[in-house]
Formats: sequence, structure tokens, C-alpha cells
Amino acid sequence: MSLDLVDVSFVYDVGTPFERMALDGVSFSIEPGSFVGIAGSSGSGKTTLVKILKGLLEPSSGQVSLGPFCNVGLVFQCPEFQLFESTVLKDVMFGPVNMGFESEAAKCMAIEALASLGLDSSFWGRDPLALSGGEKRRVAIAGVLSMNPHVLVLDEPAAGLDPTMHDLVFSLLLDLNRAGKTIVLVSHSMDDIAQYCNHVVYLKDGHVVADGTPSYVFSNSEALDAGISKPSMASLANDLRNAGLPIPSGICTIDGLEKGLEELFCCDRCTKENKRVPKGQLKP
Ligand code: ADP
Ligand code: MG
Repeated sequence: MSLDLVDVSFVYDVGTPFERMALDGVSFSIEPGSFVGIAGSSGSGKTTLVKILKGLLEPSSGQVSLGPFCNVGLVFQCPEFQLFESTVLKDVMFGPVNMGFESEAAKCMAIEALASLGLDSSFWGRDPLALSGGEKRRVAIAGVLSMNPHVLVLDEPAAGLDPTMHDLVFSLLLDLNRAGKTIVLVSHSMDDIAQYCNHVVYLKDGHVVADGTPSYVFSNSEALDAGISKPSMASLANDLRNAGLPIPSGICTIDGLEKGLEELFCCDRCTKENKRVPKGQLKP
């Protein structure tokens, strides 16, 4: 059982001079346990799509079948603006309490969510507004995670964070996914999508122009003809290929490129012993 969108369209300001079709015939499925990236440039319809997933907007036409995902948790862009309680723990407990959980149960849920975002007991009593940007962001994500959503949807979760915090937030999300949580990540960064997601849905002007694994989407010529932007490692692999190196197709991460190069440059013995050939001779 998956979460399915079938021919979903959404029009803003219907019947006014500002009428705008933000989504047009969008269909795709989200499998349990997957890490889905919703990619596309600004204005392509990503935020509209996640608002529909959360049920904040009704599709103008088409169907959303939530399947096993009746509880969708949405972390808005810059969610730290919504922190409002006097302590971190109270803030993260707010969701479970609002859902009707007793205070002790809500506390356990909040503590567990905070721990999975790398925030230990030293944070519980702190004022959320006095935290660093990266800490605020993690508290805000914990505030949605504490409600134990079947699918965690995040709109640009690393926007505005420094590289260290960016990597930390993503590695925590990856841990959550490995522990079984279904995650939907909205991002305009193809590098993040290629590195962390196992399923990419690429939107352009409200249409799905590509849908598949990152290596499929970022090497599929039909999709590329649709003008999708590529992760930097896919572009580098392409440049190397054009320069004459027989780099395999479907590479879009630094690990993938490293492996591709290793296969070209190492003999079997070196690969076994995990050593590289120093002079860069091609594998015979
Ligand atoms: P993205 O998140 O990919 O940047 P959005 O879903 O925010 O895209 O926007 C898709 C399109 O819908 C854009 O053309 C945008 O201008 C328009 N749009 C978004 N929100 C509104 C709104 N509240 N009212 C009218 N138009 C909107
Ligand atoms: Mg957006």
C-alpha cells in the first residue's frame, strides 16, 4: 500500500485575473519507508504539492489516496518562526498534547523526538528563542516528529543553515529514514536530493517531468531534455565522459563518482586491498 496522487491539479485564485495553475495533472506514488525528494525550481509547485499532501489545500481536481499514511507531518519552510512555548520540551510536547495525549505520554513522545534530532536533556528547559539557528530548526522538526507522523514531509529543511548544520540535519533525517520513517523532502538542491533520496519526483511548471531513482532521473535523456538541473557530481561525471573517460552512466553522488573512478583506475588486486594505483593508469 502506498500514498498515491492521481492526476492532481491545483489552481489558485480561480476566476480572478490572478488565476494560476500551480499543479497540472500530477501523479506519483510514495512507498512506505522511502525517502522521496520533490525537486524543481522556485515556482514549480513544490510547496503547493506538500500542502495538498498535508490536507491544507484541497486539489482542484484529481485524487489523493493516503493509504497507510493517514497521519502526515509537515515541517514548513523556516519552521522555527512557529516556536512559541517558554521551553524546548513544552514546545515539542504541544503537538502530542493537542492530539489528546496525557502530559506524561506527551513528554515521552517529545523526549524521543528531541533525542532523534540530537537534542538531549540539557535542551529541555531552554528557551527555544535563545537557541542557535540550527538548534531552533531541529526543535521545530522535533515538534512535528513528536506527533509520530506516518510520513514526515519537510519543505526545504536546510534553507539558510550553515554547511555543518545542513549536513547534521540531513544525517539525522537519514537516520530516521533508516529506522523506518517515510520521508518526503522538498528541495531545490539537486545535490541534496541525489545524496539522500531514493526516489525523485521532478516538477516543472506544475507538471511531473521525471519520476524515478536519482540515477535514473539524472541520467535519463528524456528527462534531461525537459531541462531538469543536475546534481554537481552528475555534471562532473558527464564532463569526464565527454573528455573521453568511460565513466558509467547514472552517477549523481560523490560516492558514486568515486566508485566509478576507482573501477576505472584500479586493478583487481588494488580494489581488494583497498589501494589505488598511484600513477593513474587505466585498468587494463
Ligand atoms: P515552489 O514551492 O516550487 O516555489 P509554489 O507551490 O509555492 O512553488 O508555487 C507554485 C505557483 O503557484 C507559483 O507560480 C506561485 O506564484 C503560485 N502560488 C503559490 N502560492 C500562491 C498563493 N497563495 N496565491 C496565489 N498563487 C500562489
Ligand atoms: Mg516552496
